[in-house]
Amino acid sequence: MPELPEVETVKRGLEEFIINETIRKVYLSELKLRFPWPKNFISKVVGKKIVSIKRRAKYIIISLNQDYSIIAHLGMSGSYKVLKKNVTQDYIRLKHDHLVIELDNFILAYNDPRRFGYIDLTNEEPEKHKFLSLLGPEPLSNSFNENDLAGSLLNKNKSIKNTLLDQSIVSGLGNIYVCEALFRSKINPKKNCSKLITSKGKPRQKLILLVNKINEVIKEAIDVGGSTLRDFSSTDGKMGYFQTSFNVYDREGEKCLLDDCGGVIKRVVQSGRSTFFCSNCQK
Ligand SMILES: [Zn+2]
Repeated sequence: MPELPEVETVKRGLEEFIINETIRKVYLSELKLRFPWPKNFISKVVGKKIVSIKRRAKYIIISLNQDYSIIAHLGMSGSYKVLKKNVTQDYIRLKHDHLVIELDNFILAYNDPRRFGYIDLTNEEPEKHKFLSLLGPEPLSNSFNENDLAGSLLNKNKSIKNTLLDQSIVSGLGNIYVCEALFRSKINPKKNCSKLITSKGKPRQKLILLVNKINEVIKEAIDVGGSTLRDFSSTDGKMGYFQTSFNVYDREGEKCLLDDCGGVIKRVVQSGRSTFFCSNCQK
């Protein structure tokens, strides 16, 4: 499932091609994604020009002229592809292509086998849209810091793993990067988040470290993603899924990669989702 770095990579990839292009034609599949298609989507977007593309948490926001914005989430398996338009031959849709947008010079196709992705269209300020309005601060931004995070943990009584997956506490993180950041901070994912703050709601050292490690792991992943961009506009340029090496994620039963640890990576299930961690060095 794409998390912040993958979505950022998709956004940067799209940005190269679609800005200042006008939407000429739209195909929507008969199947709905996670939610039904926005009403009159096609007639509202055809003829409008793409003026900017942004990312917020795991959402891509494509802004059109006349104040419309497309807000899109990749769900579990969504991906975009950009192809140079072939003037002699129409684009041939692939299985699971649910949205195809013909621009002046490019074809933008959204493919999603599992259809957990979703797309909305709004003419209000995107930040006020129901998908975005309750999102917590972005990693790598000033608003994501140990003092504010400590404040939002006050009176919370749940594991730090589940706390970090809560998009209103910090946005954009998913299972993979939460596991990795907790490993780098040597924090046990089952630890109650209240143990990371003082009784007055100030951050303890481990929480300060955690904020740094979240930023570090997200930045590294964005950098890795950037290096995958060059293939983007090729016919098989499926974006947003790049293999990077993880320290704990999906490594159940393998040795901890910390030299002096000697532990073995375990998998536990928290709120229905797998958590990978080393019980030896993550306390
Ligand atoms: Zn270890």
